[in-house]
Amino acid sequence: MSGCIFCEIVDGRAPCEKVYEDDLSLAFMDIFPVAPGHTLVIPKRHAKDIFEIDAASLAAVSRTSQQLAHCIRKALAPDGVMVMQLNGAAAGQTVFHYHTHLIPRAEGSSLALQPRVPGQPGELSALAGRIRLGLE
Ligand code: 5GP
Ligand code: ZN
Repeated sequence: MSGCIFCEIVDGRAPCEKVYEDDLSLAFMDIFPVAPGHTLVIPKRHAKDIFEIDAASLAAVSRTSQQLAHCIRKALAPDGVMVMQLNGAAAGQTVFHYHTHLIPRAEGSSLALQPRVPGQPGELSALAGRIRLGLE
C-alpha cells in the first residue's frame, strides 16, 4: 500500500535488518528497540490490523513469530520473550500494517515501552546475525 513504511520494506524500497522471510511473512529488527533483540514479524500482504488480515497471512506471521521466539531464546537467553500485537491508535499502534513484536525480557525489567531510542545499526545487525543462527 502506498505510504506504508512496512510495505516499502517488503518491496525493498526501504531498508531493514532482515532476520527471516518466507512467501507470506517477513521478520526484521525494530529500529527503536525496547530491548536488544526486539524483532518485528509482518505479513508481506498489506493488512492494517487483526480485523483486516487474511487467515493465511495470520497463520504465517504466528508460525514465524514462534520460530523466531525460539531463535531469540537460543541466541540471547532472555528470562522471557514478550509477544505483543497492537490494533488501533488507542491501543498504541503507530504503524498501520499488522505486526507482532518479539521483545526479550529480563527478570525485573520495566514493562514500560518508553522511552525509545534508535538502535545502533552495527548493534542491530550483530543481534540479527545471532538470532538468524537459530534458523540453521
Ligand atoms: P506499533 O506501535 O505500531 O505496534 O509498532 C511499530 C513499531 O515499528 C515500533 O516499535 C517502531 O519502532 C517500529 N518501526 C517504525 N518504523 C520503522 C522502520 O522504518 N523500520 C523498522 N525496522 N522499524 C520501524
Ligand atoms: Zn503496508
